[in-house]
Amino acid sequence: MRVTVFGTGYVGLVTGACLADVGHHVLCMDIDEEKIARLKAGEIPIHEPGLDEIVRRTAGSGHLAFTTSHADAVAHADLQIVAVGTPPDESGAADLQYVLAVAGAIATHMQSPKIVVVKSTVPVGTCDKVAERLASVLATRGSPLGFDVVSNPEFLKEGAAVADFQRPDRIIVGTGSPHARTVMAELYEPFNRNHDRMLYMATRSSELTKYAANAMLATRISFINEIANLAERLGADIEQVRRGIGSDPRIGYHFIYPGVGYGGSCFPKDVQALTRTAREVGYRAGLIEAVEAVNNSQKTRLFDNIAAHFGGADALRGKTIALWGLAFKPNTDDMREAPSRVLMEALWKAGAKVRAFDPVAGGETLRLYGEEPGFELMQDKYSALDNADALAICTEWQQFRAPDFDEMALRLTQRVIFDGRNLYSPERLRDDGWTYYSIGRAPVR
Ligand code: NAD
Repeated sequence: MRVTVFGTGYVGLVTGACLADVGHHVLCMDIDEEKIARLKAGEIPIHEPGLDEIVRRTAGSGHLAFTTSHADAVAHADLQIVAVGTPPDESGAADLQYVLAVAGAIATHMQSPKIVVVKSTVPVGTCDKVAERLASVLATRGSPLGFDVVSNPEFLKEGAAVADFQRPDRIIVGTGSPHARTVMAELYEPFNRNHDRMLYMATRSSELTKYAANAMLATRISFINEIANLAERLGADIEQVRRGIGSDPRIGYHFIYPGVGYGGSCFPKDVQALTRTAREVGYRAGLIEAVEAVNNSQKTRLFDNIAAHFGGADALRGKTIALWGLAFKPNTDDMREAPSRVLMEALWKAGAKVRAFDPVAGGETLRLYGEEPGFELMQDKYSALDNADALAICTEWQQFRAPDFDEMALRLTQRVIFDGRNLYSPERLRDDGWTYYSIGRAPVR
């Protein structure tokens, strides 16, 4: 099949590459000329395990190509997948300008009927708006051409995006059109062999499913963080409680790890957008609003602990904090809404310096904070500790799980760790003479 994908970010590039890998002929379009130039030169602008190999292979075989031309993108295929960003606007609602701009471009250039597939995460009712935009632009052209608009939300996880796309738990297709349904079944047939993963539903149900899924996962994280905060005050150990509740199959172990809050490009913005959508229809989604509030306060936990340990925020002036982990989660370089940013910005405000290491997000952090005088990026985890007054951990990268504590003690000025991901055993660290703060467990000194 011939397929066009608009947007070459985490979702668009993975979608385009994986569709090309099973034999479809894919043209990826982006308005970011630099990104497209890099992709054409064989350079992958994001870190996503396995992606570079697939892009190189499919581009080499001629199944995957890149363009900045709307006209070429629209002419390439009858199936047009929209995977552009939907960042929050000032009010917290999803900004639909990029999605609607693509709809306008498709209607401007189309010379044959199209199926427009909305893969971006969009509020309920957006596919209707896309259809309105297509119809109004076609009307100004006096064009009688027809189209279908399909909701097809994406559930891939950054850091495992390729594997998730290739082996999806489910493929949700929201459409009332039998023709579009047949074409979508054909598109995904290569990913649907083992068992039927297709779930067909009404467009609005499909749009809401994506928000409901992310809000549910965010709820689990804020829930366990709330219990962790309680555990600390009640003298309980959240890791024991986590195992105690996770063993119940109705609860399960997924997404109940206590930490410094969720980040990334999806949960914060989607939770916010859902509360906005609720308010627009006259409903106050109290639970979902609380999920966001708990998360915002959880992101300040590490700083609060650091400040309290040193005797107040004022005492942090001139201190250096080593930071392990910048990305919002392991295996990605994505820094959007990362808890590390809240911590670093609070430390700088208090006059402290940050010496940071992250296995892949260093470049992106330099792009964001390269001008910040209190920021120093280090090339390995141990050199980040040199002469620092304490270590803080924001991301649970594998390589942080079993470090050489003797080496760490030699480099830090004091044996102090603020662990936002509960990577270590408090007993072991206490026995080795460390002061160790974690989440939902009593600090050891
Ligand atoms: P991103 O910011 O990484 O990429 C978006 C891309 O769209 C950018 O390269 C941008 O230049 C391009 N773009 C903007 N306007 C365009 C236009 N008019 N024509 C062509 N390209 C245009 O975003 P992302 O993380 O890939 O997310 C895309 C969508 O998928 C969002 O709605 C997001 O919520 C959703 N989503 C993201 C994830 C994730 O893990 N990142 C997972 C599921 C769903």
